Amino acid sequence: MEATEHKNFIEQIIDSHNESGRFQKRVHTRFPPEPNGYLHIGHAKSICLNFGLAQKYNGKCNLRFDDTNPETEDVEYVESIRNDVRWLGFQWDGEFFASDYFDQLYQWAEQLIMKGKAYVDDQSAEQIAATRGTPTVPGKESPFRNRSVEENLDLFRRMKAGEFEEGSRVLRAKIDMSSPNMHMRDPVLYRIKKARHHRTGDRWCIYPMYDFAHGLCDSIEGITHSICTLEFEVHRPLYDWLIEQLGIYHPQQIEFARLNLSYTVMSKRKLLELVEGKYVNSWDDPRLPTISGLRRRGYTPAAIRHFADKIGVAKRDNIIDVALLEFCIREDLNKIAPRTMAVLRPLKVVITNYPEGQTEEVSALINPEMPQLGSRLVPFGREIYIEQDDFMENPPKGYFRLTPGGEVRLKYAYIIRCEEVIKDAAGNITELRCIYFPESKSGSDTSGKKVKGTIHWVAAHEAASAEVRLYDRLFTIPDLSDIPEGKDWKDFINPHSLEVIPDAKIEKNMLQASIGSIWQFERLGYFCTDPDTNKSNKLVFNRTVTLKDTWAKAH
Ligand code: ATP
Ligand code: MG
Repeated sequence: MEATEHKNFIEQIIDSHNESGRFQKRVHTRFPPEPNGYLHIGHAKSICLNFGLAQKYNGKCNLRFDDTNPETEDVEYVESIRNDVRWLGFQWDGEFFASDYFDQLYQWAEQLIMKGKAYVDDQSAEQIAATRGTPTVPGKESPFRNRSVEENLDLFRRMKAGEFEEGSRVLRAKIDMSSPNMHMRDPVLYRIKKARHHRTGDRWCIYPMYDFAHGLCDSIEGITHSICTLEFEVHRPLYDWLIEQLGIYHPQQIEFARLNLSYTVMSKRKLLELVEGKYVNSWDDPRLPTISGLRRRGYTPAAIRHFADKIGVAKRDNIIDVALLEFCIREDLNKIAPRTMAVLRPLKVVITNYPEGQTEEVSALINPEMPQLGSRLVPFGREIYIEQDDFMENPPKGYFRLTPGGEVRLKYAYIIRCEEVIKDAAGNITELRCIYFPESKSGSDTSGKKVKGTIHWVAAHEAASAEVRLYDRLFTIPDLSDIPEGKDWKDFINPHSLEVIPDAKIEKNMLQASIGSIWQFERLGYFCTDPDTNKSNKLVFNRTVTLKDTWAKAH
């Protein structure tokens, strides 16, 4: 382990426990998602933290599904969560469900009743909310607060037996209605929900509240450090109170700042709204910050882990610039993505002095960052495609690409000069006639020519078509927590977050690219083959990220 000064505050707490012997030097964390949506990059932060601590301290980490809200949860989500955690590179020690513990939790609720520490309240949710008071004004005690243990037990058992309507009764802890901490003002522990649970079916019609279940599940599993986000700091007294009342094993809850990312939303509720409202195509839409969306976009587990590491653990909420996430993926893909050339908006170039019927192959490194991978051969011929915006008829000063009469280098190949611009009846440029200089070939250039620009290209005789999807920020403002009055967060969805290029030109050998493989299209960015490739019988690529940050300049 590193020296203390490099440790984050959670590691320092663990070290102090190891010194005092509080947990017999054990470290056992858990990642506790509620299976009510797909995981996002914020969860990835929590996963890397919890599994990372277990690895560092030679401990364990459980995957626990916090499934106490039957209406919103589903097995589809359970499976996607398992898949995402594994994909990020982690294997859990135990896999548990809060619902596995419903019997034990129920027993503990009865114990609290028997100790006079919990009561059945017949007030409605509205009445309970109205009598809670405010942080500065004490709440009012419920008229049902001083029921006898026998009556409470009887009512709670009948709640469990399904005798009462939803919303007609709850079980509350009996703590302190004038506590300065609102969470200690007789919090609700159980409510009636006549809903089918994805695992326990119709066996239960009362379900524990998160605050009741969470710490007790931690206790059952022997968790040492229960790491959660900052908003649960004010719940910690209740976490501790329940465990102390029951006299059971006591984990330590530790809070850290949740990850917020600029230009996106992270709450599952909002993500669900985007999916269901068809603002995006699916949970794995490459524009979403979901783990499945990032994967489809071309993010690698290593880049996400690196990002989680770089942002560290903070004690105060902040917004991380999404540019940092993009930096991490660029850094990773630069090392691992093979290079190829593709042309998004093709303009045909005919090299008039290149012999008709002749072709050749020019050599390029697979990845200049990894010269040991060797070279690839790129087909070249008389007709090629270049990008439309690599040619300008009336160029501004400082434009070093192709112009009428101007010269430019075709990457890995020859220098060409534009001799003629062909246009259609409407005046659109349809083709360029150029000449090439045979002695200017890259690697053996004896032409003595100096050109300032180098552009990419694809040989027409070896070109295939592909659909390319270019993505931009999903929102137009960086901080979605700061919506002006009278506006909805969805008003700030970027209408140009997806641009589809229907007919880009790629090298024919790219037709072999497997789904999910990631490439650098030279000068254009990193691109990942999309699963829609199979559906559409045509290669579909998602741009993961551009080579350089163009956002800051353009907006
Ligand atoms: P959401 O608001 O997106 O639904 P949640 O906290 O309700 O998030 P859970 O499934 O309960 O989602 O979260 C599982 C774990 O992931 C919790 O320990 C939670 O603290 C953590 N987590 C969730 N969102 C973030 C985030 N943005 N940054 C860091 N950790 C997070
Ligand atoms: Mg939650």
